[in-house]
Amino acid sequence: MTSTESIPPVTATRVLVLNSGSSSVKYQLLDMRDSSRLAVGLVERIGEETSRLKHTPLTGGGEEREREEPIADHEAALKAVSAELTADGLGLDSPELAAIGHRVVHGGLKFTAPTVVTDEVLAEIQRLVPVAPLHNPANITGIRTAQALRPDLPQVAVFDTAFHTTMPESAARYAIDVATADQHRVRRYGFHGTSHAYVSRETAGLLGKAPEDMNVIVLHLGNGASASAVRGGRCVETSMGLTPLEGLVMGTRSGDVDPAVVFHLARVGGMSIDEVDTLLNKKSGLVGLCGDNDMREIRRRIDEGDEAAALAFDIYIHRLKKYIGAYYAVLGRVDAIAFTAGVGENAAPVREAAVAGLEELGLAVDGELNAVRSDEARLISPEYARVAVAVVPTDEELEIARQTYALVGNPS
Ligand code: AMP
Repeated sequence: MTSTESIPPVTATRVLVLNSGSSSVKYQLLDMRDSSRLAVGLVERIGEETSRLKHTPLTGGGEEREREEPIADHEAALKAVSAELTADGLGLDSPELAAIGHRVVHGGLKFTAPTVVTDEVLAEIQRLVPVAPLHNPANITGIRTAQALRPDLPQVAVFDTAFHTTMPESAARYAIDVATADQHRVRRYGFHGTSHAYVSRETAGLLGKAPEDMNVIVLHLGNGASASAVRGGRCVETSMGLTPLEGLVMGTRSGDVDPAVVFHLARVGGMSIDEVDTLLNKKSGLVGLCGDNDMREIRRRIDEGDEAAALAFDIYIHRLKKYIGAYYAVLGRVDAIAFTAGVGENAAPVREAAVAGLEELGLAVDGELNAVRSDEARLISPEYARVAVAVVPTDEELEIARQTYALVGNPS
């Protein structure tokens, strides 16, 4: 027996989840034996004069650490993260690390499930840059950097679009010339898929049912916002489209507008395409309507009698209601509606207003249950209501870790 044979194999049960944005990297290290979090953190303002790294170890009694220093690029960011994890005895060189799971925003039609990254996979993610110019390049950089640090480790791409690839063509196609649409890959892809998948499944669990037996409307209401209709665990419709601009009123995005608004602003308003892009993505939605995109601030202003804030809230709710009604019609039968993300999990007035007046559809919210503040998934509908209304905190990182670990298992 050689000396190496006498060493018991290390069980690789950890997954590092990376969410790489254009100037930020969010990360979580999880132990998949019990889905516990070992460390979480964030690097912001990468490439700027002073970047910020915030690292929180959640095991071993370590303290939250925060520092500001120049971090030139994603490689430097990941090295800094690696150093922080190493200081907690959780280094990326650990044999306990099973894989790195990456959030990738756009997987097009090709990626319908989490995928181990190969050169071909990276090339395909690269090919999708024209339809996700803000996100996919950063995701690619994150993957390449992680590969350089641990070339031996499986890197898994978990796509925001994957959950929506089950949408029928009737929902996924825009009614535009087919040849043009196909040539430029113009269709509805949907986003926030990891959250919609997680929340629809958790909602079934909360009700003690199998996802296959449930029709659920998921309302992911964060700074970005999207709705989805999920039949038997499969997405059949979602509100975001070619890009995350379509659908609900969001923090800074308009959601649905007549496409002719773009021509009008260009021809009559003299705006360039880039200016209209910025207007609709960054200066619209709640911020465009009333100057604030934080629902807490909007509610505070409404309480003080602010009319612009009240109108912004009404427009937000009106759009939400239209989608609830539309998805009710798409599904035919609805078993549950789940509210999630920053606004959906925290803003009781939004939940109350969104279902107000929909009693004929079997929808109601119990005032007392709705007012409870909790991090737990919970029902807020009264017992008599035909449709369960739930608040289900989303956990995209856990979902990415689960999907990653399910794919690579324990490679030791
Ligand atoms: P997310 O994108 O999911 O992180 O959600 C961020 C948004 O959630 C913020 O812009 C706020 O509008 C909203 N939010 C967070 N906490 C609360 C709260 N306690 N009450 C109302 N809205 C909240």
